Amino acid sequence: MNSYAERVLTQLKQKNPNEPEFHQAATEIFESLSPVFDKHPEFEKQALLERFTEPERVVMFRVPWVDDNGNVKVNKGYRVQFNSAIGPYKGGLRFHPSVNLSIIKFLGLEQILKNSLTGLPIGGGKGGSDFDPKGKSDNEIMRFCQSFMTELCKHIGADTDVPAGDIGVGGREIGYLFGQYKRIRNEHVGVLTGRGLTYGGSLARKEATGYGLAYITDEFLKCNKDSYKGKTVVISGSGNVAIYACEKVQALGGKVVALSDSNGYIYDKNGIQLDVVKQIKEVERARIKEYANRVKGAEYHEDTNGSKGIWSIKCDIAHPCATQNELNLESAKLLIANGCKVVAEGANMPTTLDATNAFLDAKVTFLPGKAANAGGVATSALEMAQSSQRLFWTFEEVDKKLHDIMVNIFHNIKKAAEDYGFDGNYVMGANIAGFMKVAQAMIDMGVC
Ligand code: NDP
Repeated sequence: MNSYAERVLTQLKQKNPNEPEFHQAATEIFESLSPVFDKHPEFEKQALLERFTEPERVVMFRVPWVDDNGNVKVNKGYRVQFNSAIGPYKGGLRFHPSVNLSIIKFLGLEQILKNSLTGLPIGGGKGGSDFDPKGKSDNEIMRFCQSFMTELCKHIGADTDVPAGDIGVGGREIGYLFGQYKRIRNEHVGVLTGRGLTYGGSLARKEATGYGLAYITDEFLKCNKDSYKGKTVVISGSGNVAIYACEKVQALGGKVVALSDSNGYIYDKNGIQLDVVKQIKEVERARIKEYANRVKGAEYHEDTNGSKGIWSIKCDIAHPCATQNELNLESAKLLIANGCKVVAEGANMPTTLDATNAFLDAKVTFLPGKAANAGGVATSALEMAQSSQRLFWTFEEVDKKLHDIMVNIFHNIKKAAEDYGFDGNYVMGANIAGFMKVAQAMIDMGVC
């Protein structure tokens, strides 16, 4: 690692103890950016890395709410406004019991680079709560969201910070959050994305992250005179990203044979029937195990150890679309031994550092999440553009823009990797291409 990058990484770990996910994300980024710092010693004088890894602002707050039995509950709320060099802070809200400052900071840091890669004017931020939506009634979810927004609305705005969904925050939650923002601020503006179509949302936003993942993977395959046709594909998760990745992969000719949730995974050798999955996950909000009860020949495997078992299934292409660190070295070795040729991440940092390196060493094509899942936030930026114009674009218009953005991202990260002599290393390509634009903007704006 470049000596400047190494010094800043050591400081970062000392100044931010007990934040392992934040350290992990920073380590991967710093390793990738080492050749950039070798080439640009002037960045050190600007303390660019120190500034880049220190959030502009961190807001932490109490979220009190009342459950259906009248008990008062308290959760932690977070919003990390990481970097606004190229546009308003933009990034999702995550509601999951595992949420803490380390996780929100790792996601925020990655978000800066991802948003830069989209080519659109959006800075990086992330937020959420350790609230667990599982098993809560609609009314409890609504009361929680209203309390969360009562504080958050003081810190966000259509030109300041525009949150969206993430794990545990889908259309229902965005609706309750937006309703409360509008009620308190008396403004119907594009302050959240992923909104419903009746109140300012964009067509194709729901599908965007999963579709974008399939588009960028397809572009890589096309450049190698290949396609999804006839390929066996394993997708982890069964949430928003996984469902729409599955839909587009199937449309492009791939055969998806597995999906999962945090309790286990399903294997259907005939190919997943997505309408059954949508009914279970989007309508009934039930467990993925139900699939095996409804589809003949499908298997369900209990797997509470972070859904690792799904990676033992033989496949050509793997799309981890559940959560961070779900694919470790052991799983990577299994995938490689079983002949997997492409890993493209739908989730944020689903692959551990050693597993990523194992894929790169084995010449498995590896498309990192910050590039491969950027379609979600890109389409959120398209939603912001439509809100500002007070216009709506058709599904086809948004989908076409999304497709073009993903194709551009692929070629930009490919070129950045080549420019620095790391052909085919898309991790380096994504980090370098994303960083250079933000770095230039930060330098142009002076010390701030
Ligand atoms: P959802 O909440 O819709 O779905 C998450 C899925 O992952 C669920 O199936 C969930 O299962 C599963 N999951 C969560 N935690 C674990 C775990 N510890 N082990 C195994 N499975 C788990 O979230 P999204 O689909 O929106 O997000 C998935 C990933 O994609 C996240 O990393 C997110 O940050 C990233 N992402 C999302 C974007 C978006 O637009 N939504 C944009 C870019 C990235 P269960 O129901 O059992 O919890």
